[in-house]
Amino acid sequence: MSVLDIEALTEPELAEIIGQGELVPLLAALAHLTGDRHYLALEARPRSVTVLGRAVAGVTDGAALELAISGLKAISGKDPHPVDAPVDRELIEYLVGTPIDDGTEDMLRYQLGIPHDQGAPRWQASTSSEAGLSVAIIGAGMSGILMARRLDQAGIPYTVFERNADFGGVWHENTYPGCRVDTTNYIYSYSFATRDNWKHDFSLQQAVQGYLREVATEFGVDKNVRFGTELLAATYNETSCTWQLTLDGPDGPYDAEFSAMVSAVGQLNQPKIPDVPGIDSFAGPAFHTARWDQDVDLTGKRVAVIGTGASAYQVIPAIADQVGSLTIFQRSAPWMEWTPAYTEEVKPGLRWLFENVPTYSHWYRAYQFWITADARRPYYTVDPNWDRPGSVSAENEELRQHLVNGLERQYQDRPDLLERVIPSYAPYSKRLLRDNGQWAKTLHQPNVRLVSDHIEAIDEQGIRTSAEHIDVDVIIYATGFRASEILASVDVTGTDSRKLRNEWAGDPKAYMGVAVPGFPNLFCLYGPNTNVVVSSSLFFFAESAANLVMSALEHLDKTGAGAVDCTQEALDQFVAEIDEASKLTAWGASNESTWYKSASGRVSQNWPLRVLDYWTATRELPMEKFQVLRPAVRDLEVAR
Ligand code: NAP
Repeated sequence: MSVLDIEALTEPELAEIIGQGELVPLLAALAHLTGDRHYLALEARPRSVTVLGRAVAGVTDGAALELAISGLKAISGKDPHPVDAPVDRELIEYLVGTPIDDGTEDMLRYQLGIPHDQGAPRWQASTSSEAGLSVAIIGAGMSGILMARRLDQAGIPYTVFERNADFGGVWHENTYPGCRVDTTNYIYSYSFATRDNWKHDFSLQQAVQGYLREVATEFGVDKNVRFGTELLAATYNETSCTWQLTLDGPDGPYDAEFSAMVSAVGQLNQPKIPDVPGIDSFAGPAFHTARWDQDVDLTGKRVAVIGTGASAYQVIPAIADQVGSLTIFQRSAPWMEWTPAYTEEVKPGLRWLFENVPTYSHWYRAYQFWITADARRPYYTVDPNWDRPGSVSAENEELRQHLVNGLERQYQDRPDLLERVIPSYAPYSKRLLRDNGQWAKTLHQPNVRLVSDHIEAIDEQGIRTSAEHIDVDVIIYATGFRASEILASVDVTGTDSRKLRNEWAGDPKAYMGVAVPGFPNLFCLYGPNTNVVVSSSLFFFAESAANLVMSALEHLDKTGAGAVDCTQEALDQFVAEIDEASKLTAWGASNESTWYKSASGRVSQNWPLRVLDYWTATRELPMEKFQVLRPAVRDLEVAR
């Protein structure tokens, strides 16, 4: 980084730059760089959480702004400051705005990334062939690349098997127009491979996939990946404590053996096509958003999109101008939060701060993480005494009103639409979408129609609802994924011939989303109950889960044991706690059918506790919850 020189900038120019960034992380960075605590101004300290988790953001008034300008002047023209100067709790507490405990401090320090890559394993695998571990990773998306990196850092050989032809997982499969991330990239990225040169705060699909590919190449994962290779079956061998894999690669089926297997297939890889009578009789092209048919030209066509979830919400505005007519089939309306800059490029002021203020990007990331993580909990937590329909607590009602106001502003002229775009269910029963006005603008277009009648059937010409028949040329299914059927297409056999498919039966359960009793050394990333509804970031959850996996492998490496197997009791306790907590979340209390729930109605996909709780529980493998198995012996010691 070059030495900051702000001589050429006037104070109004500096004020504009600062206003395009975030004041709180800037003052934290300045206090960190200079060691001068007077930059931790009370005026700029995050005070209270607002409805959307925001504390102080871009506030440039008064003394706080002057402080920031004086801080920039103080570091201007000086040698670059050491970016790894120690960070103490006072600095981190400033970012949060309240006193914090040790766990929160550790978690935020990790997100801050000073020093760099605190998640790197602090041990090296033994090189003796006897103890030699080897790991199969299934999936080369976000979690698979992460796992590969961690294994490589510990010196454990691994192979990644990926059915697609490239890195990226969902970011490879979802190529529909308008596809982009809805969590800011400053936290939707690895803690060990942050970037401060994103073009957009919320990147388009190609940029996210490009990032994943770039990281995979940087860390050598590209040398250990088998593309075009699908896992057909995996069987745990109780004698050798290994996993025997049957794979189907470019040269046909083959077998391979590993001491552990990591499922990094995620939750959102099996498209859900609705069960509508006559669906196969439609004569025109029909495809799911995650299987976008690039050969179909939508220009001038009569297009139907079924669904109004996160995918539909992005694809519909992106194709509305191109198609002849667009009919949107909405079963229930989505809630959306006002995010005017959602599709805009990163503001020049923010970019300037990244480029010129050492450590600012670190503080910015930690700040973004915090304001979207546990700070939002009051807004989705159920108050058991609350009985107003459409919300679950006073705070949730406050959020509801805030969101309704945003919708009313946009549909003043169309009361007919307004009544159909206000959801009846409580905010956070489903994921909040990001609203930059595009959705309302699209629904106002003369060639676009919102249909909320029940779909009764599909025939050769189009879609029949309870009210009419609508002729269309193309049907796009934006109907989501069979999220609870994790690994269902693979024949996974554990101890005593048990089948994962039968054990889960469409209602997946794993200790911390990672370990399943009877399936030793099978570990899941982005497994059951580790999806986040409100925010933080899936990267954070995957990194935490990977830490647990590395802790298990460290134990095996140090003790020479063959495998660890989660006890049924540990899983039952975990599930009981999770289920209880889920009932107190907006999505758990909701009667809406969402991909968060399994067929039984249990919330099988989401994490209901604090982000901090997941962080704390994944620091180290709790050996008392695992059995340790050794090769050639069936019933072995219970650890400790
Ligand atoms: P989704 O949220 O499950 O939405 C599916 C939509 O299809 C809903 O509107 C649903 O209606 C509707 N639907 C399903 N079956 C139907 C039927 N038989 N008849 C009529 N409508 C039906 O799926 P998604 O939009 O693909 O998103 C899934 C998840 O992927 C998101 O929650 C998010 O986590 C992730 N995602 C993220 C991004 C991003 O980062 N920007 C983008 C896309 C997806 P109901 O609501 O009434 O069930």
